Amino acid sequence: MIKLTGLRKQYGETVVLDGIELTVEKGEIVVIIGPSGTGKSTLLRCVNFLEQPTAGELTVGDLTVDVERASKQDVLQLRRHTAFVFQNYALFANKTALENIAERLIVVDRWPKAKAHARAREILERIGLADKADAYPASLSGGQQQRVGIGRAMATGAEVILFDEPTSSLDPEWVDEVLGLMKQLAAEHQTMILVTHEMAFARDVADRVVFIEGGRIVEQGPPSDIFYHP
Ligand code: ADP
Ligand code: ADP
Repeated sequence: MIKLTGLRKQYGETVVLDGIELTVEKGEIVVIIGPSGTGKSTLLRCVNFLEQPTAGELTVGDLTVDVERASKQDVLQLRRHTAFVFQNYALFANKTALENIAERLIVVDRWPKAKAHARAREILERIGLADKADAYPASLSGGQQQRVGIGRAMATGAEVILFDEPTSSLDPEWVDEVLGLMKQLAAEHQTMILVTHEMAFARDVADRVVFIEGGRIVEQGPPSDIFYHP
């Protein structure tokens, strides 16, 4: 489903990702952990070209690109296979919950508005916010805003959802409802790659934990191997 080969990212002289090799299978839940500043977020952002990787090869679905030669068309296609959930939700403040979820379907996927809104209503049901369709982000709790952020990713039907510290901006009281929605997606075998500090979630839900340090994968395996060293 996803394969990173020799993926590198540099900012000027600074090497942030130093030859990442990672394969993620369909339906797999992969949690990326490691000290702060080691490139976890950058790795996630490189997968869908929110950051332009410096070198390496990236496969998503049936598309493989050499990142140094990726065309605009390649990037658009890669993005179609992935959806991103941001730490700070990144909702449009001037759009309702329904419109936030429908936006990418209308603008990127060119769905007619009525069809996109119907899809958004289905998603609002699934994320338990059917009664908030017309609410603006400012009137929603942090937990509700992030559920809309996740709903927006779900609506695209993307094969892979990338989560960048999805609960790190939340007041503690809202964390469980967001983790609950993520667990629901995991139970539906949604392919997910997550950067998170929620170790209980990683232990209970992840198929694989990937430990990154200094821009390299230093260890990976099932949570039972990573968390319970003899
Ligand atoms: P993590 O998610 O593991 O905390 P990040 O991927 O956010 O780490 O950042 C990895 C490193 O890349 C950090 O040292 C950070 O300072 C650096 N970095 C991130 N974005 C930029 C940027 N736009 N320009 C320069 N350095 C950056
Ligand atoms: P930060 O750099 O502070 O971590 P964010 O993670 O919120 O900022 O987002 C910054 C990047 O995400 C930018 O490249 C921006 O274009 C992109 N972005 C922001 N909002 C959205 C969105 N709703 N959908 C897709 N991309 C977005």
